[in-house]
Amino acid sequence: MSISENLQNIKSTLPSHVTLVAVSKTKPVSDLMEAYNAGQRIFGENKVQEMTEKWEQMPKDIEWHMIGHVQSNKVKYMIPYVKLIHGVDSLKLLKEINRLGIRWRKTVNCLLQVHIAEEETKFGLNEKELEEIIHYITTDETATNINVVGLMGMATFTDNQEQIRKEFLHLKSLFDDYQKTNPNFQILSMGMSGDYQLAIECGSNMVRVGSSIFGTR
Ligand SMILES: *Cc1c(COP(=O)(O)O)cnc(C)c1O
Repeated sequence: MSISENLQNIKSTLPSHVTLVAVSKTKPVSDLMEAYNAGQRIFGENKVQEMTEKWEQMPKDIEWHMIGHVQSNKVKYMIPYVKLIHGVDSLKLLKEINRLGIRWRKTVNCLLQVHIAEEETKFGLNEKELEEIIHYITTDETATNINVVGLMGMATFTDNQEQIRKEFLHLKSLFDDYQKTNPNFQILSMGMSGDYQLAIECGSNMVRVGSSIFGTR
């Protein structure tokens, strides 16, 4: 099936409150343009340089989301145009985003990435670090140019649906708790090609889908 057919199929199953991020990492601009011409306007990339190159070449009404791990020294290249940074996983990174936001006179939308999977290898904050970051954004008067709008997480790579469900529900409950005191919390980014339906059942309102749209990488 073509990219536009894949996209239509997925979109037709998504509830209206769920936002689809088309994860286009490693794919050529021609593939992204096929999705664009089928109406897709939100794209997710996991490398700053690749995202910047695509941003330069593509129509300017696209929302670019950074979904991958970001090194602090790369932040400056995407600040002018990035719409949402999903993978904020340290206070150091958030402070650097804030610093560059001030310089560019821009408020940068961010999600905090929480470690919910069993694997050690996946990036993300533990609950103590999450607490520290929330403390920073809610109390530090210098945190002027970041807008933390929710949480992001990745479940363990496994066929065990119960385990994935448990991890997603855990993130959803953290999200609900923090939302009570942080009204800016609106976005819960969880779910990829293999598990986005389950993620939506568990409360996700933003899914990051790559291979089901663009094919395997
Ligand atoms: C690659 C990637 C995705 C999309 O994965 P698919 O399985 O291809 O849908 C989603 N989120 C993150 C953080 C990724 O790196």
